[in-house]
Amino acid sequence: MATEPERTYPSELPVLALRQTVVFPLTIQPLAINRPMSVDAVNHALAGDRLVFLTLQKDEADEPKESDLHMIGTVAAIRQMAKVPGGGIHVIVEGLMRAKADQFTRSGVALRAMVSAAPESADKSLEIEAYVRRLRELIDRALSIATGLSQDLRGLVAGIDDPLRLAYLLSSLIDLKADEKQKILEQNVLTAKLEAVANALGREIALLEMKSKIESAAQQEMTDAQRQYYLRQQLKAIQDELGEGEKNELGELRSRIAAAKLPDAVGAIASKEVERLERMSPASPEYQMIRTYFDWVLDVPWSSTTEDRLDPVAARQVLDQDHYDLDKVKERIVEYLAVQKLKSRGAPSGESRGPQIKGPILCFVGPPGVGKTSLGQSIARAMNRKFVRISLGGVRDEAEIRGHRRTYIGAIPGRIVQALKQAGAMNPVFMLDEIDKITAGGFQGDPAAALLEVLDPSQNHSFRDHYLEINVDLSRVLFIATANQLGTVHPALLDRMEIISLVGYTEEEKVHIARQYLIPRQLEENGLAAEQMAIDDEAVRRIITQYTREAGVRNLERQIGAVARKIAARVAGIEADDTGAATRTQVTAATVADYLGPPKIHDEVAFRVSRPGVATGLAWTESGGDVLFIEASLLPAGHGNITLTGQLGNVMQESARAAVSHIRSSTQQLGVATDFLDSHDLHIHVPAGAIPKDGPSAGVTMATAIVSALRNQSIKQDVAMTGEITLSGLVLPVGGIREKALAARRHGIKIMILPALNAPDLTELPAEVRSSMHFEPVSTLEEALNVALPRVLVSQK
Ligand code: ADP
Repeated sequence: MATEPERTYPSELPVLALRQTVVFPLTIQPLAINRPMSVDAVNHALAGDRLVFLTLQKDEADEPKESDLHMIGTVAAIRQMAKVPGGGIHVIVEGLMRAKADQFTRSGVALRAMVSAAPESADKSLEIEAYVRRLRELIDRALSIATGLSQDLRGLVAGIDDPLRLAYLLSSLIDLKADEKQKILEQNVLTAKLEAVANALGREIALLEMKSKIESAAQQEMTDAQRQYYLRQQLKAIQDELGEGEKNELGELRSRIAAAKLPDAVGAIASKEVERLERMSPASPEYQMIRTYFDWVLDVPWSSTTEDRLDPVAARQVLDQDHYDLDKVKERIVEYLAVQKLKSRGAPSGESRGPQIKGPILCFVGPPGVGKTSLGQSIARAMNRKFVRISLGGVRDEAEIRGHRRTYIGAIPGRIVQALKQAGAMNPVFMLDEIDKITAGGFQGDPAAALLEVLDPSQNHSFRDHYLEINVDLSRVLFIATANQLGTVHPALLDRMEIISLVGYTEEEKVHIARQYLIPRQLEENGLAAEQMAIDDEAVRRIITQYTREAGVRNLERQIGAVARKIAARVAGIEADDTGAATRTQVTAATVADYLGPPKIHDEVAFRVSRPGVATGLAWTESGGDVLFIEASLLPAGHGNITLTGQLGNVMQESARAAVSHIRSSTQQLGVATDFLDSHDLHIHVPAGAIPKDGPSAGVTMATAIVSALRNQSIKQDVAMTGEITLSGLVLPVGGIREKALAARRHGIKIMILPALNAPDLTELPAEVRSSMHFEPVSTLEEALNVALPRVLVSQK
């Protein structure tokens, strides 16, 4: 019943002699065919009905004779055939039925056989059923011991109903010798066949069990530690053999770790990582990653600090040595140190580690070149601390502060840890430059959030760097921030900091700074002795007014440096000539141009406001204060349109419209034609057009420019103004008076119009500025016009 005895096959079939394998009926099996006689047999089969007679060879002969072949074999169909590049072929055959070769015939190499079906006797009896169950049980057991067997087997076996097929399938899967397989094939009685399979399977299982027993016994004998030791020894032996002697490297690493005096927590992490390294091949990328990691971990100065000097008197001396004036700032710094000194006395235990400076973080705000950075350096010098600085300009991602995780290719720690490494101590003066220039919007978190943690005394003792994955104690760092402006500083950061403004210097102050600090420094930097170059004050003034226009002194120092370089080159030239004469070069106002070329800055105020409709305003900018010119023009044949150009922000545009409305509502009072917009357009322009401008403080200036255009009367050249204007013509206070006054002074302005409510700010101005300029506080536009566009002049004209 199992086979299909009714099916008839041709009695003569090509013979495929098999070595060391038996193909059972009702199973599918791949065969590799190489011998010419076998290839020939396959070809014949494929040319006809694809049937072959498969039979086992009794020995390994290449060209077996009839007597070398078993008579009982399998009739099979070739289901697939593929040629292999080496010349042989691969076929997949499906065993169809057991058959007996009655006679072999040979034609050339090809062997053929007259075959007749030899069906197994197959009654389905109780005994057979019992064997089938036993086989299923055995399969279950085999699957539970051996991990190598496919779990699909259970399903496969369960799905087979036919005991014969089950017997043949299992026989083909079990690891049996070819002879044994042949015996199973030749067995006529199904129960005997099933018994043979069950016995074979039982043997297989006993073997598997024995194997796993031996393994677990051996494993139990070796404790975990022993095993690790054993494996490690093996690995070392292999690595030594391969010449990858990492021993020295690891030994060196160990001694570096010991020497680095790591805090306990860090030490524990380091030992763990070394153990990991030991188990790795030095050629693996991860090994290199951990090596680099160690370079960073060991370079962080975990336990080094410098001893603080908290002597307010000495600190003041250092600050005075380094910086001119800046009295208030210096006082504040000295106070700060005094407080720290008292605090450290109160906490004797902290003394050896250096006191923990807690309290507000100082933030120096001001235009470039006013000495923010160099003050930080002075503080470090005064306190005997190291100084490091990171620039936050353009930082977008938290990862820049905190580092990338180690899994990133090329990851390194964040800037904070990098700077600590550079400082070589855990308590440096740490300058966070340009804190106003961090931008949010990176992909990996807001940098401001990470900075908040850095600056928060209650959190920064355990700052987490993503790369190191170790908490870093920042509590002993003295942070100082700098910014050009406060508007863009994150409010939460602003909240943490004490703001100290440095607004810029007057001409006189700059002359002093140049004389006391910049010139001596530039002489030294250019290898000149003091007697070889003298720059008189007038020359310095000329450089300040005609070659630089800045709130600070950075360009001034650069220009002095340029003069010194030219002189140094000349002195060196003379020495080369060997005249030997000690030369002294005197730089005067008249000779400045010989060194620096024609003046770079021209006094443009008079030129710009020489026509009606142009007013000089004062603006606050990031680089201090500056003047700006506002132009107004009445265009004939218009329809009352107002055009605003020069990249004006919303606030500034609204302020322009308010000015126009006020003027329209008060034409008589202001002395302009009532219907000025009826048949005209008004154009207001603020050069330089490429720079965006905004803010309300140009209101008075715009109104003045419009009135000047309407009256066709020029504004007084030495007047500049600032102030917000209301619809009713009132002048409201604005910020940055000090910066604006300094800018006005730099541009040679004599009269500054400012809101009356800003008058108290005037006391803050340097005496030099107060005495050299005239200030006109005003409450209304009319008052401002009386100063800038006095109507008396009109009647005189
Ligand atoms: P900032 O950090 O504010 O941009 P820097 O600290 O770099 O400015 O200062 C620029 C240069 O000007 C430095 O060489 C500094 O020493 C010098 N400088 C600034 N202010 C003073 C001052 N009050 N006295 C002496 N030198 C000064």
